[in-house]
Amino acid sequence: MIGAGHWCGKPRPIKGLAGISGLFRGLLMRQLVAGNWKMNGLSADLAELEALKGGVGEAACDVLVCPPATLIARATWAVKGAFALGGQDCHAEISGAFTGEVSAEMLKDAGASAVIVGHSERRQYSGETDAIVASKAKAAWRAGLKAIICIGETEAQRQGGEANMVCQGQLAGSVPADATADNTAIAYEPVWAIGTGRTPTSDDIAAMHLHIRRSLVEHLGPAAMGMLILYGGSVKPSNAAEILALPDVGGALVGGASLKAKDFLAIIAACAK
Ligand code: PEP
Repeated sequence: MIGAGHWCGKPRPIKGLAGISGLFRGLLMRQLVAGNWKMNGLSADLAELEALKGGVGEAACDVLVCPPATLIARATWAVKGAFALGGQDCHAEISGAFTGEVSAEMLKDAGASAVIVGHSERRQYSGETDAIVASKAKAAWRAGLKAIICIGETEAQRQGGEANMVCQGQLAGSVPADATADNTAIAYEPVWAIGTGRTPTSDDIAAMHLHIRRSLVEHLGPAAMGMLILYGGSVKPSNAAEILALPDVGGALVGGASLKAKDFLAIIAACAK
């Protein structure tokens, strides 16, 4: 079955399709809410994951948290499969003389089932190109991880009317041709919306997700029909319901608001039942 609950490793029945809009929502079934803790999180913050575990219950969506790599193994013990854990980046190689790097196999070994690749902060601060991002997505699959491949335009690109072209180019370069709905999700994250409290209008998010879907189908063929397209960029409890109800929004990638279980649970609760 396409995309039904597989991100959390536990296929679960779909509770109903009432109120679900969008051509692909019916195919996707379950949305994914993923948290990106970025370079935040010490041992004491495992308490937030415990709280999340206590509250996630029968969530209507799949739930994934990507803490720093240093916490993944302990988080795996702490959450006991209540939701999935992932990495925020990986190296393309399995092992070797790459000081400071973490391979996809290491993430898997620590308990991860997914990894974010091509986050705009890595593209910006670590010079990651589309080709590097594509090689990391392949590394994720090699290790048995699902890849969340991030794309998104800068503010100048949006103001210059280039957002569609930029995102289409990033998809073409960052998403390997053998990506499927089972091994990959796309995260549309406008760079100017990350950590700023600003979001595109609902119409703009819906239009971009439709554009991404069309571009993916052009790039990958029918394999792209059920692929989740997450929205990311200043998702919070107050705007989650509106964003998650938009056509072809397959879930959310959440930064700041994923750090506190209370906020993240409110976003999870906003997923379509
Ligand atoms: C992110 O880092 O992927 C992100 C979306 O951050 P925030 O939710 O804080 O904007």
